[in-house]
Amino acid sequence: MKYTPVIGLEIHVELGTKSKMFCSCANNSEERHPNVNICPVCMGHPGTLPVINEEAVRRVVKVGLALHSEIPENSKFDRKNYFYPDLPKGYQISQYDLPLCQGGYLDIDGKRIDITRVHLEEDTGRLMHPKGADYSLVDYNRAGVPLMELVTEPDITSAQEAWRFARELQLLLRYLKVSDADMEKGQMRVEANISLKKDGKMGTKVEIKNLNSFRAVERGIAYEIERQAEVLDGGGKVMQETRGWSEAKSATVSQRTKEEAHDYRYFPEPDLPSLKLGKDIIAGIKAQIPEVPQDRRKRLKEEYQLEDQEIEMFVFYKELGEYFEKAVSELKGWLKAIGQKRKIDKDELSKLTKICANYLISDLQGLLKEASVSVGDLQITPENFAEFITLIYEGKISSKLAKQVLSEMFSSGADPSHIIEEKGLNQIVDESELEEIIKEVVSKNPKAAEDFQKGKGNSLQFLMGQVMAQTKGKANPELTAKILQKVLTK
Ligand code: ADP
Ligand code: MG
Ligand code: ZN
Repeated sequence: MKYTPVIGLEIHVELGTKSKMFCSCANNSEERHPNVNICPVCMGHPGTLPVINEEAVRRVVKVGLALHSEIPENSKFDRKNYFYPDLPKGYQISQYDLPLCQGGYLDIDGKRIDITRVHLEEDTGRLMHPKGADYSLVDYNRAGVPLMELVTEPDITSAQEAWRFARELQLLLRYLKVSDADMEKGQMRVEANISLKKDGKMGTKVEIKNLNSFRAVERGIAYEIERQAEVLDGGGKVMQETRGWSEAKSATVSQRTKEEAHDYRYFPEPDLPSLKLGKDIIAGIKAQIPEVPQDRRKRLKEEYQLEDQEIEMFVFYKELGEYFEKAVSELKGWLKAIGQKRKIDKDELSKLTKICANYLISDLQGLLKEASVSVGDLQITPENFAEFITLIYEGKISSKLAKQVLSEMFSSGADPSHIIEEKGLNQIVDESELEEIIKEVVSKNPKAAEDFQKGKGNSLQFLMGQVMAQTKGKANPELTAKILQKVLTK
């Protein structure tokens, strides 16, 4: 392509605080009954006064600190005036020239995306247009909910990169516990500004709204890049406008042009004091920041030498990752116990770690999903899970039996050796015991033994089957094959 896409994002996130931004109404995005979480303050009745939600301010500062933003000591709220039926006050309290956070960055796959600002404002109500009706309905439960807005520099150069940025931001917000940032629930909403650069010359930017899912972010931006390229290729000019992504049409459609742009008549909110954040407050918030995904990725790679895909799973499914780390620490204990019976090589822990990661990501996660149980409610202790892994590693249970044992551990929470004992699942790994059984099977099947000596390979398969039948599948397959060969070639 002869154009370079230039993309900047504006992302709104509803903060998961208990109450709204400027009143004590519940902030409950699950509330289905309309207009129950409202009061004279969030409805903008005359004579009421807003009060700043401290927790909301703390959460935005937390995000800013995690994004390496500067947190100025002075900040304030401003009024953004416009009329729309979902805005009961006729203005939105937002921040104009002194946002809570300035600058900062987020790295995605090694590329740095600069952040312009992060500020705090309030959400609007929600309009509903019943199908076929000649009226609209409005629900103000959402009006006044704390809303964080993050603006990026136009550093993004593809639809895929925008998608990655949104994903990474969502993950960070979840780690910081400031919001679930669920796009399908409208807790995180993305707008994209897109222009095409050619030979170093900037193009006109178009803003895309209604990107309400990660898929829409990627498809909407990809579509708009194509559309602008076609306009330019045809000798036309890209108009500065706001367009909306239509899922039904799989296209962006014009919503308003530059001429229709609003003048919001911003001015300092007269009903609120300006905000002064002392160094101590900021330091206190900083101390509450946990390990962020970007740091966790690095640490997991260094500590456990996992594949990138495995690391991604343990970073994305944070609790599964924490469980993994606990299990590995238990593995060390089990390995020590094994070391009392035989010599341990120094790479055995990493082999065990690898098996542990595999079983967590595929088998255990499968069981969790199937039963819709979260890792926090898991009955299997990390210690028992680690023991289970050592049993597989030591060949005490085959991979087939392992599935059975794990699903039993999952439902009962019992330890694996107990289950193996109780259900009689233990493999026969004792060589002399197996040899006894094998000799008996061979003497009962002289024809097959003769065939083997004549070079008929499949008679070995037949005898293997007989041993398995005799032991109810408990004979260790590798060991059985080895001993059978030995007995037959004697
Ligand atoms: P506006 O005043 O129109 O809102 P801003 O300067 O506030 O514009 O920028 C809004 C968003 O548009 C930011 O995310 C910014 O990165 C992005 N942006 C700015 N210039 C461009 C451009 N030429 N192409 C694409 N996006 C841009
Ligand atoms: Mg703007
Ligand atoms: Zn209220």
